[in-house]
Amino acid sequence: MRYPESKLPDVGTTIFTVMSQLAAEHNAINLAQGFPDFNGPKLLLDAVDKYVSSGANQYAPMTGVAELREQIAIKVQRLYGRKVSANNEITVTSGATEAIYAAIAAVVHPGDEVLVLDPAFDCYNPAIVLNGGVAVHVQLKPPTFALDWQAVAAAITTKTKLIIFNTPHNPTGAVMSSADLQQLTELVRGTDILLIGDDVYEHIIFDGAEHLSFVKYDELYQRSFVISSFGKTYHVTGWKIGYCVAPAHLTSEFRKVHQFLNFCTATPLQYALADIMAKQPQHYLQLPEFYQRKRDLFNQLMAPGRFSGIPAAGSYFQVLDYSQISDLDDMAFCQYLTEEVGVAAIPISVFCKVPPKMRLVRFCFAKSDETLKAACEKLVKL
Ligand code: GLN
Repeated sequence: MRYPESKLPDVGTTIFTVMSQLAAEHNAINLAQGFPDFNGPKLLLDAVDKYVSSGANQYAPMTGVAELREQIAIKVQRLYGRKVSANNEITVTSGATEAIYAAIAAVVHPGDEVLVLDPAFDCYNPAIVLNGGVAVHVQLKPPTFALDWQAVAAAITTKTKLIIFNTPHNPTGAVMSSADLQQLTELVRGTDILLIGDDVYEHIIFDGAEHLSFVKYDELYQRSFVISSFGKTYHVTGWKIGYCVAPAHLTSEFRKVHQFLNFCTATPLQYALADIMAKQPQHYLQLPEFYQRKRDLFNQLMAPGRFSGIPAAGSYFQVLDYSQISDLDDMAFCQYLTEEVGVAAIPISVFCKVPPKMRLVRFCFAKSDETLKAACEKLVKL
């Protein structure tokens, strides 16, 4: 028997797995894959214990437990001023990655074009290809990674079905401005183009900036899947729980995929998250301050060294240029950092169809102060 032809011939193992494995093998400090090295709030962890031992262990409703969808609706109204229906516009998913896949699978037909902005998070492209779509890559402009609206407009054709945005942006830390949202609104007005707003870092935004979710703007929301992640917000990335907010006509298509992709998401986690959202809304309201302090600490500790860059405007990632340190390409440099220096990072070129000319790597600063100090002590010596 012959092996089946690969549906993803150009795809290898995701960089996050590659770098976390390499970090473990070499006992390096892992600033590569984005996850905190501290725990979620005790109230949340205790609530999971409570729901597991009291028997909330069978299937949740396919759309998510009602209490959690209600709390998401309250949050969306509080932060973005829109009253969304918990029943018809909110679906709880097993992580944002599942939601992104389900949204793409729900609307992309063979031959449809999907615009992605490079550097683009690595799950977008395979999901487009697996559904017969064609990914069209537009580059964000380094060093700020601002959106190039002329390039976006030039990439749109009659086949453009969907554009995927991500703000605050992984891997670059850039955020969309109100001028960007205005440009986008004008660009899609009168078209059938749909949008994904990958908002997983919505609460991790700095220097007083406001997260501009597509949910806020009626013209944009009517064509959007807005996706977020409890993993980032509650420091529990391993729980793989997120959600999608979309108008009813898009939510019903989204759920047709979600119900057969995953059916439903872990029940006790959903009840516990509903509890903490009701009892401690200040948790997510304080995240900008919490992570801005870590960003600033990381950049202060790195200042004496030879890495350079612009402080991240959001997300828990800092991109830095290493051209004063090495001529290696970014993958080789990350291997060297992990194996020889003892700190793992993520190369930026893996997120790009056309690798950027700058020599850039991404560090995750969602770490305890001790971890950041230990890592920076090694990095500033280079
Ligand atoms: N979002 C995380 C990051 O960017 C990784 C997610 C994953 O490992 N799939 O590092």
